[in-house]
Order: sequence, then C-alpha cells, then structure tokens
Amino acid sequence: MNYPLADRVASLQQSDIRRFSAWCAEIGGVNLSQGVCDQPAPDAVKQAAKQAIDDDHAIYTHMRGIAELRQVIAEKMQSFNGITADPEAQIAVSVGTAGIFACAAMATLNPGDEVIVFSPYYSYHVNLLRLVDAKTVFVETHPPDWRFSMDELENAVTDRTRWIVINTPANPSGKVFSEKELADIAALAKRKNLLIVTDEIYEYITYSQPHVSIGKLPDAADRTITISGASKTYAVTGWRVGYAVAPAEICDKIGVVSDHLAICSPAPLQYGIVAGMRLPDSYYADMAKDYLVKRDMIVETLRAIDFDPYVPEGSYYILAAFEKGRFRDDTHATETILEEVGVATVPGSAFYRDPEEGRNQLRFCYAKQLADLEEACNRLRKLGAYTKST
Ligand code: GLN
Repeated sequence: MNYPLADRVASLQQSDIRRFSAWCAEIGGVNLSQGVCDQPAPDAVKQAAKQAIDDDHAIYTHMRGIAELRQVIAEKMQSFNGITADPEAQIAVSVGTAGIFACAAMATLNPGDEVIVFSPYYSYHVNLLRLVDAKTVFVETHPPDWRFSMDELENAVTDRTRWIVINTPANPSGKVFSEKELADIAALAKRKNLLIVTDEIYEYITYSQPHVSIGKLPDAADRTITISGASKTYAVTGWRVGYAVAPAEICDKIGVVSDHLAICSPAPLQYGIVAGMRLPDSYYADMAKDYLVKRDMIVETLRAIDFDPYVPEGSYYILAAFEKGRFRDDTHATETILEEVGVATVPGSAFYRDPEEGRNQLRFCYAKQLADLEEACNRLRKLGAYTKST
C-alpha cells in the first residue's frame, strides 16, 4: 500500500546525529556523535527524583510545570541570567528544550513566516521549523572564531521575518556570542519588531568568555523567548525537562501548546531538577573546569592526527576540519573512523545551510566520562597512524 505520509515529513529523516550514534552502539564503539552526555547525574538530583516517585508524585503537573520548579527557575534566571521572570506567568516547563522550542514555534509562527538562523546550526532547530512550515533564512558564521556580519543579518530580514534564533553557547560550533554581538542583534530586533528565540542549554559550559543572555538587554527584554533545560547541566538528557522564559502572553500559549502536545514533563523528574537547581555555585564552576580539561584533550588529539580543530569557547562539541582528499567526504570520514577505530562522530554537512561547507569537517562531542574520552582519544591517535600509512 502507498501509505499517506504528510508532505512535511517527506524530506525529514533520522538525523545524522542519531544515525551514527545507533551504529556506534551496534559495534560497541565510543560515541562522540550524539551529545548524549553519558556522565553520572548529581546524587542530589537522582535522590530527589526517587523520593518524588516514592511520594507518589505520579500525576499530571500544572501545564507549565510544578510551582517549585518554576520558582527555582525564576531565582536562577535572576541570579545567573540577569532576567526577571514571574514564575506564575512568564515561565513554562515542557519536555526538554526541543519540546519547548517546538511549543514556542507553534505558539508564535504561521506557515510561510521567516526565521533567521545562524549557520552552522543545530539541525533540530531547522527541522522543527520545517515541521511548522516556517521558512528558514540562514546567516553565516565563519570559522575559526565564528564571526558574522551584521549587514548580512540585517539584509536577511524581510516583511515576513518573525524570529531571530540564537544558540549560545552554540551547537555545533561552540561559539559564545559576545555582549556586543547580542546588543547589535537586540537593537535590530527592536527596530524590525522581531522576536528573539535563544536556546541557552549549554549556558554553564563556557571556557574563556562569560555567557550572556540576550533577554537581559533592554532592547530585547520584552521580545525574547529564553530557552534552557536540565539535560546538559545535570547530565540527564533522557529526562526531558526544559523550559522557556517569555512575555506572559506568549508564555501562556506555549503552556497551552505544551499541554496539547505532551500534557507535561515527567512529574518526578521535575522534582529531581528542583534539587539540581539548588546545587551550590561550585557545582557549575567544577563542571566548566571539567569540560575545559576534556576540550583541551580532544583539541590536542585532533591536532596530533592532523585535523584542524576550531577550538570552541563553550558547549561540549568541537568542529574539526580534515585536509581535502584525506577522505572522500565527511560521511566517508565518519564511516572510516567508526569502522577503523570504533569512534563515532557526526559529518559536518549535517550542520550547514550548504552541505558543501561541511564536507571536510566532523563534529566531535566530548561530554564523556574522562576514561571514555581517553579511550576515544587513544583510538583516534591510531587512526592518525592508519590514514598516514595508507
Ligand atoms: N543536542 C544533542 C546533539 O546535538 C543531542 C540531540 C539529539 O539527540 N537530538 O547531539
């Protein structure tokens, strides 16, 4: 039978991020592909979730999340992000950052509306925008430091533009937007009456530049949807607890959409994240330090095997280029590395407006336990010998 698939999924497939992750699991390799963040979650987080199960927190929660969680999010938004948000009206919790991004898109975009996205981009942003029939318009950021041109950004704005999407620290580039860049974007958004949607899920993972939330800047304050979540900060990517901070009118609709799509984020896990958000500042400082060690380890390894890594300022990914001709293309490179030394990566083309731009790049995720990352690095060093001798 010809199954009646919707046009909107015709060109949508399993992401390369997941594809190489699944292949890696099959062969028992080390997964530097999907950003699964397979490190232990803090005990306090696990204990609180277990306690919530024992306490029978088993029913649907408020459609924007439990009050305790919205309260600690409001406190964190004030102290860490510099954003004042009313937990009763301006904060909505849903099933992960991907879930809340989808709710924000459904709550504010109509088919044909245009959304500006910086390239390279996180493919889930772009594919979700496709699912709501929005048109993505790309603005380039350029390696090695991922600068962009404000003129190009301004020229990308049309009468149909509704959003500018920011992802800082960025997946996959590791770019951390500076306050000056964000102030320029905020001024443009104000002038053109656009919403800013900023995904800040890696906000605690920065190395040399501080994280800045655009939503705290005066031009952006009343036109920004700030998205974040628990996945990366507490190493619980499968728990699916994410949130948005938005103007009340938008936040209400995000909550309504979330209710219709998923009803709520898993109740006991929301309690677990409340405990996480009460961890002392030292937890976050230690995490950033730990990632810096891991970043430097992968940078050194990639250089040793003649890759050219674009050293990230934040997040836990690194894009690295290989010399053209060393592999046929990025997919061949990914397959070869997985087959020869059992390390999974993601082909660079998965992240670019023009796939050609990523043809000689791979993304490596270094959110691993130290021993696993060391193992991956040892294996990659063997690849160096392999490809040099063939
Ligand atoms: N954000 C993670 C990544 O980019 C995981 C995403 C996913 O599995 N969809 O790898």
